Order: sequence, then structure tokens, then C-alpha cells
Amino acid sequence: MSEICISLCPESVKEALKELKEGEKIGDLTELRLDYIKDINRENLEGILSKKTKPVIITNRNKKEGGHFAGSEEERLCILKRAMELKADFIDIEISSGHEVISEMIRDKKETRIICSYHNYKETPDIKDLEDIYEKIRSFNPDLVKIATFAKSVNDNFKVFTLLKNKKDLITLCMGIRGQISRILAQKFGSPLTYACLREDKSTADGQIGAKDLIDIYNFHSINIDTKILGVIGSYAENSLSKFIHNENFKKEGLNYIYIPFKTEPEELEGFMINFRKFNFHGSAVTIPHKVEIMKYLDCIEERTQKIGAVNTVVNDKEKLKGYNTDYQGAIRALEEKVRLKGKRALILGAGGAARAIGYGLKEKETEIIIANRREEKARKLAGELNVKYCSLNNIDKELYDIIINTTSVGMYPDAGRSVIEKKYLRGKTVFDIVYRPMVTQMIKDGKSVGAAIVEGYIMLLYQGVEQYKLWTGIMPDEKVAKKILFEQLKK
Ligand code: NAP
Repeated sequence: MSEICISLCPESVKEALKELKEGEKIGDLTELRLDYIKDINRENLEGILSKKTKPVIITNRNKKEGGHFAGSEEERLCILKRAMELKADFIDIEISSGHEVISEMIRDKKETRIICSYHNYKETPDIKDLEDIYEKIRSFNPDLVKIATFAKSVNDNFKVFTLLKNKKDLITLCMGIRGQISRILAQKFGSPLTYACLREDKSTADGQIGAKDLIDIYNFHSINIDTKILGVIGSYAENSLSKFIHNENFKKEGLNYIYIPFKTEPEELEGFMINFRKFNFHGSAVTIPHKVEIMKYLDCIEERTQKIGAVNTVVNDKEKLKGYNTDYQGAIRALEEKVRLKGKRALILGAGGAARAIGYGLKEKETEIIIANRREEKARKLAGELNVKYCSLNNIDKELYDIIINTTSVGMYPDAGRSVIEKKYLRGKTVFDIVYRPMVTQMIKDGKSVGAAIVEGYIMLLYQGVEQYKLWTGIMPDEKVAKKILFEQLKK
């Protein structure tokens, strides 16, 4: 079972005692980074170690290795040796400390266990090189090997997962925001521990996640070898709110799933989808900019989704990857709560991916549609596919519609004060703004002020997420829980 090790970076002995107490409340063990403690010396170390109630890793990293220890190499090692005399549970000694030093530590360790570590703050080497590094460290015969590398790509995580195979003595992870997957999934792939920080302003490595987030958002202690992996694939996946919602429902229902952000750039998508299959990930949400591109990596696409031409959900059904679009379901359900769609006239502002999904949904409901877009050519193309009318955004007869739907990103945070349509045109209509950040957009404010019926973007977001959850698990999530969490997150 993997444990959470809280990495502590106090600046003084006094602070160390305080942080040790805090860290031990949340973590299974702590790592005390002595190199951050300005007044640390051989003499005052005992005062700290005598107060510990859980196992502690003692680390004293020099500047060459990305640490902060300002004294000489001799002083650095002298403090580490003192920690061994004081029976520290673990000592972390870097491979760069050299053969002689490491061998001496291992020879004299008594009750202390030795972690011999390799750090690469620039990149993650290829798997063959990682195996060589592991073997080199292993040849010193430490108790544990630690390999921490920087993830330049989401796909670097899969290198460390591969490295973990058949090794019980290896702690490995990727640093950086793109490496967070490896920290969250330590338990799934067999790393004996994951490092976390006390708070985000107290991180000791790039990409380290707060321990409370690992526990509260990602249900870290419930993850095991059988946990089914879900997530969201996108360039800004880290901003997605779905991780809060889905993981809470998995916890509530006792389902062995985990949902995490897969921050993926267009040039990484092909490799990511190869790994997705290889590591048997269970499914994903798909967001900007991959909704169209992802289709070529799937085995089949649901019929309606094929027509829409954009996938926002992938399900791994017995190793066959299937694509779905739940955006249109979310939008139509949100609208139908406020208005009967059959025979109504709808103006869709925008002609991007969301407009396309909503357009198909409305067509099915026999709603008359006109598409207005800033770039008229795009409106013309989508209108041609749907066999509906189109016009330019600057040239619409705004009085003729029952329903006005904004699918452009106008009004989205940080451009929150703007609306794509003047307020006077909203009177007496059903006004649907699919933008959900901010929760109440300018268009929604304007609609409310002229007495329009309102459909807010977060309702669509909620309902499309509910459909995704059903596709992945076959179970209906608790919508009340999902709505409450979405509200809390959007209000932040
Ligand atoms: P997209 O494919 O990139 O399309 C963006 C659309 O916005 C295009 O029609 C574009 O017009 C238009 N646009 C952008 N800036 C504009 C401006 N300054 N003035 C006028 N038009 C402008 O994006 P998408 O995936 O459809 O998403 C659009 C919005 O919907 C985003 O804010 C997204 O967060 C939101 N969304 C919400 C949900 C939900 O569940 N509530 C689901 C999906 C998307 P041009 O073609 O002229 O560039």
C-alpha cells in the first residue's frame, strides 16, 4: 500500500517542530528537508527528532541537487550521519553524493533505512535510461530507490509507470504540473509512497499536490491496483471542475474509480491515446482543443455523435474505444426544463463545437434554427450541414426568435462584463448562455433584467457531466451532490 509522505520545508527549528506536528496529522510519514532550516546543526537535530510520532525521512540536499543547504559538503553529510545516530527512520542520499559516501552510509546505517535518490529537474529520460539508472542505484544495495524526473509531456508519466513494473523497492514520480498523474496514481502502479505538501505555498517540488487535496479530492487512500482510471483530456484540463464532482460521487457510491486531469497538448494526443489503450484507462472526458482530433484514435463513434462531428466522452468498452457527445444532451435537457422546443425558433450565436452539438440536438426536436457567427463562412458551413439558415453576427434580425442561445466564448471570464447580444433583444425570449464562468454572465444578467426566461450554462455543464458518468459507470450519479459541488466550485 502506498503512503502519503508530507514533505516539510521549515525555515527554522521552531517552525520545524510546528510543521512536523501538522504534517503527522495528515500524512502517513513526513520528509524533513533539513536544507531549508537555516539554524539546523548537529546539536539541535535531536530536539526535532525526539518529537516525531510517525516515521520520518531526513533529507539534506545541496544546491547542485536542487536543494538549499548552504554549508560545505562535509557539514551536509555530518548532519545526515547525526540523523542516523539519532535513529531517523529513513535517510535520503542522492546518487550524486558518490560511491564512497553512499557505501559508508549503508554500512553504518543500523536501524535507519537508506533511500538512494536520482533527480532530474529538466526531463524524464527514456525508459531504457531509467532502467539503467535504477540498476546503477540498486547496485549500492539501498533499502529503497527513488527516481524523480521532470515531466515535459503527459506521456512521461507512462515511462515511470512502466519502470515500476515488478519492482517493490522503487519510489518514482514525475515533477511538474504534467507529472501530477504519477503522484495521484502512485498506489495504482506500485510506488510505495507519494510526496505531498502541507499547503500549496509550502511545496518542495514542482507539481507537488497538497496532501489534503490528495485525500479529499482524489480519495488517495482508496486507490488500488483495480481502480478504474478516468479523466479529462485537454490543454487546460487542470482547470476542469469535474474532478471535484465525479470523485465525490465515486466516494459516495463506493465505486472504485478515479477521475484526474490529463493535461495534454495537440502534439501529445496520439502518444497519449496509445498509452490510454496500453494502460487500459477506462474512459475520459474530452475538452478544448481535442474534441474533433480525438475521433481518429477511437474504434467507433456513436451514430448521433458521428453526425455532430465532435466527441466529448470516450468509453473503453472491453478494449474498444467508443466516442460519444453528451454536450447536446446536457444542453437540450437544460433548455427543455424551461421551454417546449418543438416548432420554436432558435437563434444560435456562434458556430464552434458547442453550437454544432446544440444545433443537432435542436434539429432532432424540430426546432427552427438560424446560426449567426462572427466569421460568416463558418456559420454558412454549419448551416449547410444542418440544412438551416445562417447570417453574420452583425446582421441578424434579432426580433424573430423565441430562444436565443450564446455558444460563443464572449462573456467568459476574464472578459466577464461583455455580452454578444444587446439587452433589448432579449425581452420575452428564452435566453440560454452556455458560458458558465462566471456563473451569472452579463447576458444572463441582461436577460433577467428584461424578464426573459433564463437557462444558465452551469446547468448544461451539470447535465452533460451526469450523462458522462452514466456512460462510464452504468450508474446515475447523485445529481444533488453534483450540483452542490459545482455551485461551491463556481462561487470560488
Ligand atoms: P469553439 O469551438 O472554439 O467556438 C468558439 C465560438 O465563439 C466560435 O463561433 C467563435 O467565432 C466565437 N467567438 C469567439 N470569440 C468571439 C468574439 N470575440 N466575438 C464573437 N464570437 C466569438 O468553442 P466551443 O467548444 O464551441 O465553446 C464555446 C464556449 O462554450 C466556451 O466558452 C465554452 O467554455 C462553453 N461551453 C460550455 C459548455 C457547458 O457545458 N456549459 C459545454 C461546451 C462549451 P469565430 O468562428 O468567428 O471565431
